[in-house]
Amino acid sequence: MNIAFIAHDKKKDDMVQFVIAYEQVLSGHQLYSTGTTGKRIMEATALKVHRCQSGPLGGDQQIGAMIAENQMDCVIFFKDPLTAQPHEPDITALIRLCDVYCIPLATNIATAEILLRGLQRGDFQWREIVKGKTKDAESS
Ligand code: PGA
Repeated sequence: MNIAFIAHDKKKDDMVQFVIAYEQVLSGHQLYSTGTTGKRIMEATALKVHRCQSGPLGGDQQIGAMIAENQMDCVIFFKDPLTAQPHEPDITALIRLCDVYCIPLATNIATAEILLRGLQRGDFQWREIVKGKTKDAESS
């Protein structure tokens, strides 16, 4: 599965702890992130992360584009609800695209735990079916 990680500055420590806890599970997947979040994850783990731009510089939009192309299967987005973000429109757009395309999205650690446990159990297999259908439609 393709999984994206984004954490606002005050949530980055939580994200690092979270990813360390699930490193084993995540090592079998393709990981994407905004710039600084990915840097922090790679410094703390042996995981390889495809880093987009930093969030305020377009990283959220890059991940949004992957969602629009049906290339993202899960988004773990530790939002900071107590701090104004300069790229608020990009954040809103990313969340909106998850809803448009029915992409599992966690915006806090409690939901993220449940999503990753689901991932471990194979609950994301339906994504392969959806992606297969999209490919079929594109090639016909
Ligand atoms: P960052 O971006 O990982 O580059 O910090 C996340 C954000 O703040 O949107």
